Amino acid sequence: MEREELTKKIDAYLEDKWDAMVEDIAALVRIPSFQEDDKKEPGAPFGPGPKKALAAALDLAVRMGFQTHDAEGYIGYADFPGASDTQLGIIGHMDVVPAGPGWTFEPYEVTRKDGYLIGRGTLDDKGPSVVALHALKFWKDLQDAGDAPQFPCTVRFLFGANEESGMADVAYYRKRYDDPAFLFTPDAEFPVCYGEKGGYDGTLTSKPIPECERIVLEFTGGAATNAVPGQAEALVKASADSLPAAERLTIEPAGEGLSRIVAAGKSAHASTPDEGVNAIGLIVDYLLKNGLCGADERAFLDDAQRLIDEKGCPTSTSAPSPWSAAPSPLRTIASSKRSTAVSPHPSRPIRSPSAWEAWPARWARRSRTPCSWSRFLCIRTTPPSRRC
Ligand SMILES: [Zn+2]
Repeated sequence: MEREELTKKIDAYLEDKWDAMVEDIAALVRIPSFQEDDKKEPGAPFGPGPKKALAAALDLAVRMGFQTHDAEGYIGYADFPGASDTQLGIIGHMDVVPAGPGWTFEPYEVTRKDGYLIGRGTLDDKGPSVVALHALKFWKDLQDAGDAPQFPCTVRFLFGANEESGMADVAYYRKRYDDPAFLFTPDAEFPVCYGEKGGYDGTLTSKPIPECERIVLEFTGGAATNAVPGQAEALVKASADSLPAAERLTIEPAGEGLSRIVAAGKSAHASTPDEGVNAIGLIVDYLLKNGLCGADERAFLDDAQRLIDEKGCPTSTSAPSPWSAAPSPLRTIASSKRSTAVSPHPSRPIRSPSAWEAWPARWARRSRTPCSWSRFLCIRTTPPSRRC
């Protein structure tokens, strides 16, 4: 088939199927498919959301006429048989990170606006996966109509369910199946992104701090380790009247001589940290600047500040941990992605002799456009006991 004719057929397919493709994307976006370890069970190793989204994607592939297989809820695939068993792999993922706060639009719906599709997963990675699957369907239709020869290779379309939080889906698959001869993912920028130079995930914990020595009674912020946190708040032992105003911070009385400091930063994806304003960092700066911390808290906050600062390491956030008995430590989950064009930063845990422990979890070679360290941080504190 000549290129011009092929292009016309592609255009006609898109014209004909675009609304259906958007609906296919929307059906997946409606499933909040973030990992929930406390709800996992056999067949749903990452919780009900990823399982449901994986099943929906496989169901879509079945309706298109592909043979599918669900690998125990870890991952699934759809095959487009070629002239040989040699596989060309395509891998997308059906899990997402939690929506987090601050959405202007309903996160688990697809909103069409100004030529964009808005919703959690429309870009990463349900939308691109659906479009790639439709590309495969386009070729299948051509082949079924006798307008194209059979592919020389079998195309295996893999649907991951754990890309955002550990990639246990791929580990599970590789233990049980052969790797494809070649594989690409519709989960990066065109034309080629072959990896990132480095990444770091770690948990950093202060030494236990007796509650009577604590000024910072609560500190929470962030929802995921791959995003700059857009919101954070802290409860401190200080009268709101005595605290100076600061940009992006709201300070209000919280009774019993306490104040609540709420920061409105700007959330951003880990790949574009410079577009964000770290809400946790705003509060850390404020606490340090105004002496709102005891000695041990200061040691922790100093390190947190170094992590968030441009040259520091970076990232992440999560929900507050459950209240527990004191003395309790301050805790952060921090991670970074280094995306410069230079060689990877050496793998080295962050350690502070007094107050921190850190465990590097992974360093991976990746490459993207140059940018600074991501600036994320996730802080949790255990709850105060007022018994001091
Ligand atoms: Zn992705």
